Amino acid sequence: MRVEDETCEICGKPAKHFLFACFVCDSEECIQKAREQRGGPGGHQKKKWAEQMGKT
Ligand SMILES: [Zn+2]
Repeated sequence: MRVEDETCEICGKPAKHFLFACFVCDSEECIQKAREQRGGPGGHQKKKWAEQMGKT
């Protein structure tokens, strides 16, 4: 799996980075949103992420 083959999960453009467990492009806004989705105020999402980490 290469980053170049993936698309940004926020805006759908070609991905440049794999951050916070999702693919994002070069946009600061997309990186910010990715961070918020994974570790932001949404406690339930953070818990879900923690459970996924536990399985692997
Ligand atoms: Zn993007």
